[in-house]
Amino acid sequence: MILSTHFMVGAAVANYTDSLVWLALLPLGLHFLLDSLPHWEYADTMEELKQKIPQVVIDVSAGPLIIMAVSLLHGFDVYKTVWLLVGGTIGMLQDGLSLLHSVFPQKKLLKKFFDFHLSLHTKKKLGRKIGFGLQIVLDFLAVMFIGFYR
Ligand SMILES: [Zn+2]
Repeated sequence: MILSTHFMVGAAVANYTDSLVWLALLPLGLHFLLDSLPHWEYADTMEELKQKIPQVVIDVSAGPLIIMAVSLLHGFDVYKTVWLLVGGTIGMLQDGLSLLHSVFPQKKLLKKFFDFHLSLHTKKKLGRKIGFGLQIVLDFLAVMFIGFYR
């Protein structure tokens, strides 16, 4: 699943808790749940990912930019905005750790995490139109949930 969707879902979940424990656990769990659903990705391998650095930069930046925009539209609250950004970041953390594994493949803990992450990941892929569209819908729903709560 694309990083910005993981970020937005993590931020939306963070919006509904004041607990640091839930802030840490819910986005992590939802990341694995989302990865287990059939979806589309712009890169399936690390080699493909290296060819698509501009898309990765846009993908990584999109979530925080959307959260900043939503926060500004709803009266900027620094604490709440940082809370949402932390939730979103935790929601993307697993993919960051998988990226670290590709940089440090000899690190056993990263390898174990990578294998675990991969084992939960769906093997069924959706086409670009439907897969990307569903992730945009998820991003939109996340924005709606963040907006309604404020
Ligand atoms: Zn993942």
